[in-house]
Amino acid sequence: MRSKVEGLQVGEQNKEWRIESRLAQIGSIEEPVTGAVNYPIYQATAFRHPRLGQSTGFDYARTKSPTRKVLEDAAAALESGDAGFACSSGMAALQTVFTLFSQGDHLIVSLDLYGGTYRLLERIMSKYGVTASYVDTNDLDGLEQARQTNTKAVIIETPTNPLMMITDLEAVSKWARTHGLLTVVDNTLMTPYFQRPIELGADIVVHSATKYMGGHNDVLAGLIVTKGEELSQEMAILHNSIGAVLSPSDSYQLMRGMKTLALRMERHESNALAIAKFLQSHPQVAEVFHPGLEDHPGYATQRKQSSGNTGIFAFKVTDARYVEPVLRHLNLIAFAESLGGVESLMTYPAVQTHADIPEEIRKAVGVDDRLLRFSVGIEHIDDLIADLSGALEAARQEVEGGQGA
Ligand SMILES: *Cc1c(COP(=O)(O)O)cnc(C)c1O
Repeated sequence: MRSKVEGLQVGEQNKEWRIESRLAQIGSIEEPVTGAVNYPIYQATAFRHPRLGQSTGFDYARTKSPTRKVLEDAAAALESGDAGFACSSGMAALQTVFTLFSQGDHLIVSLDLYGGTYRLLERIMSKYGVTASYVDTNDLDGLEQARQTNTKAVIIETPTNPLMMITDLEAVSKWARTHGLLTVVDNTLMTPYFQRPIELGADIVVHSATKYMGGHNDVLAGLIVTKGEELSQEMAILHNSIGAVLSPSDSYQLMRGMKTLALRMERHESNALAIAKFLQSHPQVAEVFHPGLEDHPGYATQRKQSSGNTGIFAFKVTDARYVEPVLRHLNLIAFAESLGGVESLMTYPAVQTHADIPEEIRKAVGVDDRLLRFSVGIEHIDDLIADLSGALEAARQEVEGGQGA
């Protein structure tokens, strides 16, 4: 009986391994019963108790589920946290984190925030009396001005999307800690392969694992990683009580994607940087927002706090009339609303991802009708550049020929 019980305990990975090795080995050393090199999908929702007062560690699948647990432990280790929680989507993860806060609490939140997070705060959390101020979280004076006696946390995206604004995580976490505030970082765009906010002082990391972590545009998932015993216990209660947990099969699918995260991120990074440089000198492009370009205001901070750059960036064309024909003439690059997958996707934030953000806020941060966001996939760089330059040229001909008005 004992060995069977122990057979269900999931093992620890070797902490000495570099991140590439830990990613590739997710779940492959954790199944001691059969030695399966991929951790199986335990579809069970109920778990037998060996005898009264005993548990295998698993009782009911909402609380804890074996396949999900392997994923959650991997996520916690990758982000250098103490506990991981897998959720049914990135929004479910954010909602679970936001329920840490109560009536009357105030949050300071990154400007140029993911549209869904803004909607969750303004349409849902506001009904429960949780308010938010949107500021440039890299501006310590601005943070200080936004801070109220009831402020409880700083919610950061770095880089932001689509404008790629960078926040100095170490400086802001330190500031937050001095004032007793939690630092929450949405690390979706960077992934722990390039950036680990908890190592820089953050308390909570959130992911839309639908994006780079999964990486294949085929699984919707969210992750939360917490630092510290008390916070981890509280999050476990919220995760179980709210119940927006990830299914066993989706947990498996996500781990399968995560195994190749290192390889994918390297290619996303090099492709995106090469295209950003190509666009920088293109006559139909007014501005390129990529923190890996030396003239980007966040360049130095980005280099200090992360080991690379994500595969997403934004650019502004010189004339809004180019947007429609560019999107129509792209062949390899799909016009679609997501990011972080192996396939290249182009998004028009003003009408897609940021449609829920009021026009005046959108325009104030710079998400206007000339801005395009590019989630660069892992295709061959020459094919990507050929597709993009072909679409830009076709758009120029249409607009100059008077057909594009
Ligand atoms: C997509 C996304 C989310 C929401 O995640 P879902 O998995 O779509 O629910 C949250 N934050 C960021 C930065 C995102 O890109």
